[in-house]
Amino acid sequence: MSNSRFKNTLSPLSRILPLEKGIPFNRKRFIFPFWHAVSDVPNSHLSQLYRVPTVSEFERDLDFLLKNFKSASIKDVLQYSQQPEILRPKLFFPTFDDGLAECFHIIAPILKRKGIDAAFFINPSFVDNKSLFHRHKASLILKAINENQFKLAEQKEAELLVKQEQPSKNLQEFLRRAVYTDHPLLDRVAAIFSIDFNHFLTSHQPYMTMAQIKELQADGFLIGAHSMDHREFFLSSEEEIYRQIIASMYFLIQEINPELKTFAFPFTDFKVLDSVFEKANQSKIWDLSFGTAGIKDEHIANHIQRIPMESGNFSNAKQLIRTEYIWYYLKTILGKNKVRRQ
Ligand SMILES: [Zn+2]
Repeated sequence: MSNSRFKNTLSPLSRILPLEKGIPFNRKRFIFPFWHAVSDVPNSHLSQLYRVPTVSEFERDLDFLLKNFKSASIKDVLQYSQQPEILRPKLFFPTFDDGLAECFHIIAPILKRKGIDAAFFINPSFVDNKSLFHRHKASLILKAINENQFKLAEQKEAELLVKQEQPSKNLQEFLRRAVYTDHPLLDRVAAIFSIDFNHFLTSHQPYMTMAQIKELQADGFLIGAHSMDHREFFLSSEEEIYRQIIASMYFLIQEINPELKTFAFPFTDFKVLDSVFEKANQSKIWDLSFGTAGIKDEHIANHIQRIPMESGNFSNAKQLIRTEYIWYYLKTILGKNKVRRQ
């Protein structure tokens, strides 16, 4: 059974076990939930990828966190990386990936009102709406197909093109699994459907501008890097991974120069070799790095795992975080709570 299916079977327990109230060990008292966007209007470039919470859902989730955990400062985060498992108050530090415009317009004002510190991880290639993330391209096309916006002839032409280029997949499968190297084929499919990605970038402005990012930093939020163009590290060579890390951290330091240098791995850190972390730490490229594996134990001291908060199967933070704790404790009993990247 996959981890996500197993977590689903555990979720009914999360309704009755208030685990966040009595975290039994002096460990895992500091949690790092992460989101991408919050919006009351549907977003075609996101809607096919994950569940975007509404403003009221997001506020309800933050209120649950504030009731059961203290909002952590950036200093608390640094201290945690130096001494992860000392007895401390229960803390949470939210983070937001991909540098979406909603971070500036919707999320930051809510966090400021509630007095919550947070970090935003940006991809230099998307800043100022210079280019569109391949997953956002795929979502835009999928959304339009699912809403039957195209003629049958166009759909057939796109199906044929995908069959020629990637014989093992149909159009839907291609779009659902599109990876970085699929950019050119995504562009060709979009052209068949007359979807103009450049027009979307200028008219919709899906990402934050550098001026907005600098405003977030001036407001006291932490800005970190999230790779240059969000390619899949699990499909990239060690050299390419390192190039992406260096280039995005260099951009961050040049443009923003945050007091704490942080990097969040795009998608997942799965298959990233320890040698990459060792090299980054030895050359002091970052103070801290982040993954997306949920509540887990890490053998790399300054690498912190975060909890994905947009799982389609859970409708609220209470259920999701309780299930993460149940899963963590079960794995502790089974001796399987350590992150294994390879
Ligand atoms: Zn991301």
